[in-house]
Amino acid sequence: MTTVDLPTPARALAVAAHPDDVEFGCGGTLAKWAAAGCEIAHLVCTDGSKGSWDPEEDTATLVATRQREQRAASVALGGTGAVVFLGWRDGELEAGLRQRADVCHWIRRLRPDVVLGHDPWKRYRLHPDHRHAGFLAVDGIVAARDPHFFPEQSAPPHRPTQLLLWEADEPDHVEDIGSSLDRKLAALLEHRSQYRTTMDIDDPGSTEQADRFRDKIRRRAADAAAGSGFAYGEQFKLISKL
Ligand SMILES: [Zn+2]
Repeated sequence: MTTVDLPTPARALAVAAHPDDVEFGCGGTLAKWAAAGCEIAHLVCTDGSKGSWDPEEDTATLVATRQREQRAASVALGGTGAVVFLGWRDGELEAGLRQRADVCHWIRRLRPDVVLGHDPWKRYRLHPDHRHAGFLAVDGIVAARDPHFFPEQSAPPHRPTQLLLWEADEPDHVEDIGSSLDRKLAALLEHRSQYRTTMDIDDPGSTEQADRFRDKIRRRAADAAAGSGFAYGEQFKLISKL
């Protein structure tokens, strides 16, 4: 790692493919910043309608449930900022001009100092939504900073100062999340509809299974901090030339 711990930004915006991606990718960092007065915002590109292994699942109900869970997770992180859902269909997200205009609009409106997103260049990444949401964060920044992109938008251009990419192919930055790991865990566990599919919790009432999940995330955060001197961390690729 070449850098650690950015100064706490005044505003941060996390751009994710699905509800729960932000909490996995950068929940500890956002919770730490929120505790220090940063306004954190979530921008979720898809509706999360494929987040179930139950073929009988009612997808409209699932979408509403996941929005509620995402709002609760933001509160669990200490968030007071916007939680925005672009509503593109889960699994079918594209990094096209219409989607880029959406992300540009919200960067211009929310005016984040730091944007966080999926690393679109991560090798051997399978899920197309994660790849496309990563490119939308990058391409959205380029559009938001320049007045000739989407000039019909009413909000003025805005240039964030830093971009942090989680699940990074070549991580070079770590944030200390020792003080905020518990809030990351609490926020993750707000995503109850995802217990089976992403957290390996079959029985929502089982404290043993929830503890096993917490231990897994703690181990992952300890691994991410290795060599940094921190007990727990989140790793990123840091891009500062925006
Ligand atoms: Zn996802």
